[in-house]
Amino acid sequence: MGFDLRARLAERRAQHRYRTPPLMHSSCGRTAVVDGREFLNFCSNDYLGLAGDPRIVAAFRDAADQWGVGSGASHLVCGHQSPHQALEEALAEHCGRKRALLFSNGYMANLGAVTALVGRGDAVFQDRLNHASLLDAGQLSGARSRRFAHNQPDALASLLARSDAARKLVITDGVFSMDGDEAPLPAYLDACEAHDAWLMVDDAHGLGVLDGAGRGSLWHQGVQDRVPVYMGTLGKALGTAGAFVAGSDELIETLIQFARTYVYTTAMPAAVAAATLASLDIVRRESWRREKLTALVQRFRRGAAELGYALMDSKTPIQPLLVGEDADALALSRRLRDNGLLISAIRPPTVPEGQARLRITFSAAHEEADVDRLLMSLEAACTQHAYTPAR
Ligand SMILES: *Cc1c(COP(=O)(O)O)cnc(C)c1O
Repeated sequence: MGFDLRARLAERRAQHRYRTPPLMHSSCGRTAVVDGREFLNFCSNDYLGLAGDPRIVAAFRDAADQWGVGSGASHLVCGHQSPHQALEEALAEHCGRKRALLFSNGYMANLGAVTALVGRGDAVFQDRLNHASLLDAGQLSGARSRRFAHNQPDALASLLARSDAARKLVITDGVFSMDGDEAPLPAYLDACEAHDAWLMVDDAHGLGVLDGAGRGSLWHQGVQDRVPVYMGTLGKALGTAGAFVAGSDELIETLIQFARTYVYTTAMPAAVAAATLASLDIVRRESWRREKLTALVQRFRRGAAELGYALMDSKTPIQPLLVGEDADALALSRRLRDNGLLISAIRPPTVPEGQARLRITFSAAHEEADVDRLLMSLEAACTQHAYTPAR
């Protein structure tokens, strides 16, 4: 048999699951230029509209002048520079944790944290819809992996009650990346505290967006003092790149010793850390961005309800329209593109079978008129495709 890549790719194509990256000819913002044409962009994770902010770009440029481009080594060798240290301290303060530790990206932060905390003889409990990097991290750790029904604390509690693992690590997205709903953190913490388990929250989509000061899911749900392991990413609302894990002194020291994706990789460029420091300051101070985002999301939900579309239970900037079949989601995405809107069709294996969807995301860079145009285009696309979203 061997490596019959052609057959494998053909099969993928036949399933309507073949993917290719659209080639962007512009920075990430309200609009995007693809193949020489300008589109309204409703598919980025740049929720606060900061990815191209001139103040953050200036901080990046100034820091590159001072620190160069490459950090030159891993943190533990000689790559840990002043901007990294300053950013770790600022992130810890922002999240109300003792310390924070930088990673190159969220995928690596999750792999590093989970494999440093659990191994053979331990157990990991994950929401079924957790991000792929968390599921991979659980596998890689060698701990026994258990998945529970989405956002069901009772299902988690009964799994925990039956487990005799040495260490139990419960992991959830704070805000689910493909659904936009929020994990019931207080109920999870009750279950964890009753069964001597630790909770880890991946807040890639909550940090910067939720809570009045953008401190994320824990503050939004009032559990900031109860979650031992908090992970956030910098490439979404903060508009830069990288990620961090925050928690106690002992947690961070443990990660420095045992997280292989921290130890065996080059530190992010110091200029990225400096740019993120500038971004964090804007995130904290400019709460109008979160208020505008909330207003845009509400406008969209009102309009979609008037059109009779059943939206998912989401109050966040992630507002997916569930379609079902892969081919339908693709066709709708193409029609929207014909109308000048960039919205991606998310298909399995990113989402469960039969739950292909249009993942619509909002940004503080959008205007009310953009939302209205989106609603009109959605209605037109559904009519042209003779498609009725779940009502
Ligand atoms: C995007 C994302 C990650 C990965 O973060 P990167 O910095 O992009 O590698 C991890 N977890 C969740 C929930 C995400 O949405």
